[in-house]
Amino acid sequence: MEHAHVASDIERVIATKEEIDARIKELAAQVAKDYDGKNLLLVGVLKGAVMVMADLTRALDIHVEMDWMAVSSYGSGTKSSGVVRILKDLDRDITNREVLIVEDIVDTGLTLHWLKSNLESRGAKKVEILTMLRKPEAAKVEVDVKYVGFDIPTDFVIGYGLDFDEKYRNLDFIGVLAKHVYA
Ligand code: 5GP
Repeated sequence: MEHAHVASDIERVIATKEEIDARIKELAAQVAKDYDGKNLLLVGVLKGAVMVMADLTRALDIHVEMDWMAVSSYGSGTKSSGVVRILKDLDRDITNREVLIVEDIVDTGLTLHWLKSNLESRGAKKVEILTMLRKPEAAKVEVDVKYVGFDIPTDFVIGYGLDFDEKYRNLDFIGVLAKHVYA
């Protein structure tokens, strides 16, 4: 969905479709260079990373495998408790594999911090992270992210996989949600 259809719900645009496309191409070039000949396994985190995964993999000129996980914060009901529950696990063994986690956004970093150690504990050779967005000012825990699309301020963003109440994931751009939508 294009900006014109949701203009009144958007406070400001963070990245246009063209800016996302260009950045994805740059990231793909870097990933292809770093992982050439390494039998890379991309692990997408559902549901937010679907768009990044779809665009990134099609821009890659090396062979990769794809798998998916779905995780959810456990206990407190807030997304950033740091205690994570696996809703859908990987389909395959990752022993000795080069793994690249593909995420939509790193906010506090708690989810990815947990996920990275979880995958490392399964005997992966190396686990790295690619995220489309990162909010550096929201970090509660240090996570080593190898590839970042865009660093952004600590606002609630939607589009390109990111939702509010399961909507807006299909926007072809990334924007800050207008306050009147949720206030
Ligand atoms: P973290 O553990 O890094 O705080 O949380 C990451 C998760 O919180 C993301 O995978 C995403 O589901 C959610 N999240 C964090 N910030 C935003 C945001 O600005 N917009 C949306 N839609 N989700 C967010």
